[in-house]
Amino acid sequence: MKVLVVGGGGREHSLVWKMGQSPRVTELFCAPGNAGIAEMAECIDISATDLEDLAEFAENNKIDLTVVGPELPLTMGIVDLFEERGLRIFGPHREAAEIEGSKVFCKDLLDKYGVPTARYRAFDNRDEAAAYIESIGMPVVVKADGLAAGKGVIPSMTKEDALRALDTIMVERAFGDAGKQVLIEEFLVGEEASFIALTDSKTVIPLASSQDHKPVYDGDKGPNTGGMGAYSPAPVVTEEVHKKIMDEIMIPTIKGMASEGRPYRGVLYGGLMITDGQPKVLEFNARFGDPENQPIMMRMKGDMIPLLEACIDGNLRGGLIDWDPRWAVCVVMASEGYPGSYEKNKVIRGLDRVAEMQDVFVFHAGTARIGEEIVTNGGRVLGVTALGEGARGAIDLAYSAVKTVEWDGVYYRSDIGKRALDRLE
Ligand code: AMP
Repeated sequence: MKVLVVGGGGREHSLVWKMGQSPRVTELFCAPGNAGIAEMAECIDISATDLEDLAEFAENNKIDLTVVGPELPLTMGIVDLFEERGLRIFGPHREAAEIEGSKVFCKDLLDKYGVPTARYRAFDNRDEAAAYIESIGMPVVVKADGLAAGKGVIPSMTKEDALRALDTIMVERAFGDAGKQVLIEEFLVGEEASFIALTDSKTVIPLASSQDHKPVYDGDKGPNTGGMGAYSPAPVVTEEVHKKIMDEIMIPTIKGMASEGRPYRGVLYGGLMITDGQPKVLEFNARFGDPENQPIMMRMKGDMIPLLEACIDGNLRGGLIDWDPRWAVCVVMASEGYPGSYEKNKVIRGLDRVAEMQDVFVFHAGTARIGEEIVTNGGRVLGVTALGEGARGAIDLAYSAVKTVEWDGVYYRSDIGKRALDRLE
């Protein structure tokens, strides 16, 4: 079977790594990939948003299955395009991916089907939104409706902050057309978790729970990033919370999407806030997490391909996935300056040493090869992921691996997993 993975970050490296272990896969391609992916798949120089070129490549090379990593090709309609051409592809259609592409659509859906989420109001008029801000208590969260690479969400402690956020989104259009509409949301307090599931639009099979660390600095300080690390499982998702998430959130959402005439198949990723054991939805994503997928793939046992095919064919039915009982922790090594500006082309040293470590895998994100050297080529560069006994074992092993890798201007958080330790110890 020939498989194509679309994307070129750590999430896509972990997908390639996992699918490469399937006895059914004979050839693996990745577009555009990165230096780490190139060691296990043929990288094709097509961007993840060049949908026509991707479809043509899949046709010409008789790709049997395409798996999409990032959200943008999904919201652009890559699944619809591939299917029109008779190509098999895993992911939601464009109309279903709107659950991530439009926060207003998502919130209205949750409201309609009674799925717990923060109270909210949506506006397409700046002055009406400003008047609303003046009339309510603080804090609130002001959100751009559309995709903004995780940056269009602005927690606001005071009315001044909220009004400034509103102008950033709607007047300055800092996130472009994503700011045509704005959401003003109740500020939820609690602990966050990622709950990621596979679905064929009827059955929902959860992956192992996970938690990521979005802020750039230790102690969850500083601006949000794509994610500075993640771990699985998430101890905040107890058995009881897990059941609530399935019964009150995941299943009603999937049923709701079907009732709306937008049957959802693919990955449904719930970004949740858990307050005193009650989960509420912060957002839904239409794809695997990055970096959560790195620890999740390390813990997943068995072949993933039949699961993806069952989602496409609508016969997922029951059945649970087997998980390695150990913990997995991913520490993201980034370029100094990220999520702001940073330098590229720094030579990465120590990858050969870490390759010899057991139960450790280094997933590449922003890397490139220049001659014999692997160099930095992005903000998030590597996701050093380790399996270990309990949270402590996995954290210690991940950081001992991190310390063997270096480049000029490397930055990483030193407290990935601390929230889990605090809860457990
Ligand atoms: P989102 O992209 O909507 O998940 O928001 C990104 C981050 O902003 C979340 O991971 C939370 O840390 C924070 N956030 C979003 N919505 C809220 C909310 N209603 N209350 C508190 N924090 C929020």
